[in-house]
Amino acid sequence: MDIKALLEKNLPPEVLEVLKDVGERARRYGREVYLVGGVVRDLFLGRENLDLDVVIEGDAIGLTKELAEKYRVRMVSHIRFGTAKLRFNSFALDVATARTESYGHPGALPTVRPGTILEDLKRRDFSINAMAVCLTLGRFGELFDPLGGKEDLDRRLVRVLHERSFIDDATRILRGIRYEQRLDFRFEEGTERLLRRDVKMLHTISGDRLRHELERTLEEGEPEKAFRRAGELGVLRELHPALKGDGWLVRMFRRARQGGTKPPAELYLCLLCYRLTEREAEQFLEHLNFPARMTKAVLDTVRLRQKTDELSSEGVKPSVVYKLLHGYDSTAIRANLLAAESPLVKRHLQLYLSKLRYVRTLLDGVDLAVLGVPMGPATGEALNALRAAKLDGEVRTRRDEVEFVRSRFLKQD
Ligand code: ATP
Repeated sequence: MDIKALLEKNLPPEVLEVLKDVGERARRYGREVYLVGGVVRDLFLGRENLDLDVVIEGDAIGLTKELAEKYRVRMVSHIRFGTAKLRFNSFALDVATARTESYGHPGALPTVRPGTILEDLKRRDFSINAMAVCLTLGRFGELFDPLGGKEDLDRRLVRVLHERSFIDDATRILRGIRYEQRLDFRFEEGTERLLRRDVKMLHTISGDRLRHELERTLEEGEPEKAFRRAGELGVLRELHPALKGDGWLVRMFRRARQGGTKPPAELYLCLLCYRLTEREAEQFLEHLNFPARMTKAVLDTVRLRQKTDELSSEGVKPSVVYKLLHGYDSTAIRANLLAAESPLVKRHLQLYLSKLRYVRTLLDGVDLAVLGVPMGPATGEALNALRAAKLDGEVRTRRDEVEFVRSRFLKQD
């Protein structure tokens, strides 16, 4: 296969220019440099990927500094790992020194030291992510595929590189599911056996790393596929025993996309947790160390679920809907809107989201003071009553509002 032609056909010219430049510089230093990882996989699959990873058998930071100066782009480097990232306008380039890794204990972050490209490929998660294309001038476009990545790609298989892979780093379980479902591949038979054997090793992964993988999964185009598979493989219950990746969840995630736009990850998360009890949701959120905003959205989802019955009858006034929903996170309300079965509950939640939550009175606290309402708790009370009257259509104009306040909150002479 002519990979040079494939690179030229599939990568934008500005990317190609930088990659060729990288190859020329490496040649000058007498080093070899490679394009590796997801971008090589996606190149063969014809999928766009502008997160480029380059590995050099030599000093990555020095090379990246030169590129940052020449192209005048921002560079972030991690000296300890020998890696640096450049952000171009339309793509990102990660440059790393080829390295080998060893794991002190399962789930630990690896100890790294410089190595060869072969060692660098062997430390990777799956064969389809462990192919390299040489960029060095004179060898530009040569495929280096010592671990059979291309063959697995052709057979549409996700395969680990050794028997202890999931033990060393159980985040690969979640990564593998993501690739399998995104690309419509299958785990290779032996790999699936190892995954089922090692699923318990997810316990060795920190909450922060688990959350990171979960968030990346929620960013997928059709995340329900990965969640269904994670349910099937017994992975979800390792995150929390009450989580389910069943048909209900698949339907809800699809519903969330019915408007045609990609929902925020937070909405999917609220749906994932919708059926948990408050206690279960708290345990899960704490275990994965979710930030405060997401925690509120999820807990509000579960708390609101227990209250939506109050919205299930015909005669509920808009002011009652407002009072019940006001203060709940809006994503939590959206999640309940998607998951509720009762058409009346749905109608009321929709009314709140599209209209009621934006209703404002024309008078404010200062106007009330001018009218003679004493400053303090009485102001809030009067404003709330006024808003309720407005929501229920009892007042419309400014004059109506003044009249309402006078008749209810001021002593009539
Ligand atoms: P995506 O398409 O989801 O962005 P990617 O393949 O580009 O996926 P990254 O998470 O950006 O994946 O990682 C880049 C490369 O680093 C991967 O292709 C893989 O070779 C390697 N890698 C990442 N995480 C691990 C891991 N936990 N264990 C081993 N190798 C990993």
